[in-house]
Amino acid sequence: LYAAQLLAESGRRVAVFERQQQLGTTRRTWIVTDELEKIAGFIPSRAIVNRIDRIEMFSRSRANEVQLSKPDLIVERALMQPLLAERAQSAGVELYLDHGVRQMSFGPAGTELEISANALRRSFKALAPVLIGADGVRSLVARQLNASPQVAAPIVQARVRLPAGYNPSDVRVWFQRQDTRFFYWLIPESEEYGVAGLVAESTANARVLLDTFLVQQHLRPLNYQGAIIPLHQPFRQIEWRRGSARAMLVGDAAAHVKVTTVGGLVSGLWGGRAAAESIIANTSYSRNLQGLHRELYLHDFIRWLLDRFNDADYDRLLAALNPRLKQVLAECNRDSMALAALSLVTAQPALLGLGAKALLWPNLSPAARRDSQSMEPLPSD
Ligand SMILES: Cc1cc2nc3c(=O)[nH]c(=O)nc-3n(C[C@H](O)[C@H](O)[C@H](O)COP(=O)(O)OP(=O)(O)OC[C@H]3O[C@@H](n4cnc5c(N)ncnc54)[C@H](O)[C@@H]3O)c2cc1C
Repeated sequence: LYAAQLLAESGRRVAVFERQQQLGTTRRTWIVTDELEKIAGFIPSRAIVNRIDRIEMFSRSRANEVQLSKPDLIVERALMQPLLAERAQSAGVELYLDHGVRQMSFGPAGTELEISANALRRSFKALAPVLIGADGVRSLVARQLNASPQVAAPIVQARVRLPAGYNPSDVRVWFQRQDTRFFYWLIPESEEYGVAGLVAESTANARVLLDTFLVQQHLRPLNYQGAIIPLHQPFRQIEWRRGSARAMLVGDAAAHVKVTTVGGLVSGLWGGRAAAESIIANTSYSRNLQGLHRELYLHDFIRWLLDRFNDADYDRLLAALNPRLKQVLAECNRDSMALAALSLVTAQPALLGLGAKALLWPNLSPAARRDSQSMEPLPSD
């Protein structure tokens, strides 16, 4: 929707085909950095439901916190999607809801789509010189272009009532290596409610792990949100040209997700902007993606190291959060880490030791081996 808006503003004719009948029906509580405003070019005030000043982190036997100098934003997807749609339509985008793309191919005159308009019970063909596949982790466009399969992890979170006295500007994060190589969280969306969840290794036990965690934290689930999140894969092809026709992937379809935090909103919008700008200027998409790639590759590397951590390493990591390191973390956000990487290491040289340990003596417990095997490609549905 954001790419469509930028293209329409540049004078292009743009049609968006979305298979849902209505936008904004599925709730999803997101936490994003204030980079959102810079990337999206506006403050989505109507979709921001809360602001976060402090991140508290817990490992097996340590706790520490980072006070943010610019608050993180809690954004509700059910409000953000209609907002992006409104902006796109005001720019002149033709938005067709309840229109699912069933097939895509390259033809002599451009990209050819077969679209089914469900309510009208008919399908028709559309032709366009350029196609952007923004169709999520199970992207049909990616599959039809034979992109390498996604590597994905399940996220599940439950909406909960916050514990009594909980500060609604605090997010909590737990590292429990025996359960997941990722993490658990509690994110407040208001003074009263929040979401508690985890990124799991496998769909088989994600819900059991979450329910056990909720019991441990004395939280009662009100309802659940869950889906598969793609993990960024360096060098996966996301742009194709055939004659004068072009196709490209953005958002989850392109796996534009930071694998440390599994955040995909800011990086998805960033990729959308890069795609639009490359169409407008007829330049290469991959060149326009350089800034985003720099960030994503750094997160890929950090994830690779963290995957080799055991509980004791997480204890050491939290213990290493000295005032200088906290200051750097407070000021550089998770979407603009590449330029701050050196400052992080200068603020706490012990990080190098932790990284070297993970590199030379990785956590090779049976759980870690099982984890690496569980990085299976996403089956196509
Ligand atoms: C539980 C959960 C929590 C998350 N929390 C965060 C967070 O805190 N912060 C953050 O930054 N990110 C978070 N994410 C990730 C974030 O939700 C995604 O990265 C983001 O939604 C990707 O947007 P997208 O538009 O690329 O894909 P999607 O949101 O999946 O949208 C794809 C769209 O394409 C449509 N579509 C699919 N196939 C077709 C077709 N064939 N024809 C027509 N339309 C089609 C779908 O209906 C859908 O509307 C979370 C994800 C989950 C699951």
